[in-house]
Amino acid sequence: MPVHLVATGGTIASTGFPGPLAAARDGAALLADAGVTADVTVTDLATAGSFAMGWDDLRRLRTAVAEALEAGADGVVVTHGTDTMEESAYGLDLLLDDRRPVVLTGAQRAADEPGADGPANLRAALTLAADPATRGDGVLVCFDGEAFAARGVAKRHTLAAGAFRGPVVHRAVDGTVRRVAHPVRRRALPLVAGEPPRVDVVAAHHGADGTLLRAAVAAGARGVVLAAVGIGNAAPDVVDAVGEAVGSGVTVLVASRVPEGPVSPRYAAGGGALVDRGALLAGDLSPWQARILLGLALAADPAEARALLDEHLT
Ligand code: ASP
Repeated sequence: MPVHLVATGGTIASTGFPGPLAAARDGAALLADAGVTADVTVTDLATAGSFAMGWDDLRRLRTAVAEALEAGADGVVVTHGTDTMEESAYGLDLLLDDRRPVVLTGAQRAADEPGADGPANLRAALTLAADPATRGDGVLVCFDGEAFAARGVAKRHTLAAGAFRGPVVHRAVDGTVRRVAHPVRRRALPLVAGEPPRVDVVAAHHGADGTLLRAAVAAGARGVVLAAVGIGNAAPDVVDAVGEAVGSGVTVLVASRVPEGPVSPRYAAGGGALVDRGALLAGDLSPWQARILLGLALAADPAEARALLDEHLT
């Protein structure tokens, strides 16, 4: 069966250079832009910016991808805005249980911008999705000649074509795919009806206090990701606010604002105090991907959330 394309918008589908840009091109136009003549079936899900996406979009995207796989596609490519691609990729990775490849891609330069990178990215993503060698890798993000595992991928540059960094799984070179590593795969999470509960990301920083964390709880958050400083530290009033949140039944995950490396209770008054107050450590997940995991785990079964988190945070 052919590879299936799910088009959602983003810069790859945007025109209006030099700006303001707006997503306008559908999947067929993207394939034509890329000079793709192979048989590729298409679902036009949206022509939207990913900066406006949320849980409902993730659910619709997961449904569209699952339907394409159920219909027999060998693999699925999703064109998507880059701003929240790392959240959608990880969310799909958590919610899909299928060995066939699902590859997200997009662009940093608009479809009508000189040097547009969308066509090359789309061609590489289609090559990956059609290659049986990518089976079992889970969801991948393909950008600028590299394919990254969904877990750990992050947009690291606002403008450069090589926008993403993360665990490289394949290199797409001159129309071929070369494996670099095997991603670690974990059990899929169940897809449940309804939206996940509110989960907020609150940042620690120089001079931070617990006001925003307390506000998140007051707004109804059932989960909070603390984007801590360094290896997972925060100031005393933030630690106190974490203790209050945990005491009222809110799950608090500690990630770091530093782009690479794990969090650890290395400092008694920092991460040590957060763990003492009942916070869980998010390992090396970014705050943004930790929020996706926490929301889906709490939605699946709040009573089982701890076990699901333990499994996915190691
Ligand atoms: N800069 C974004 C993109 O690359 C906009 C978005 O996320 O939709 O598509």
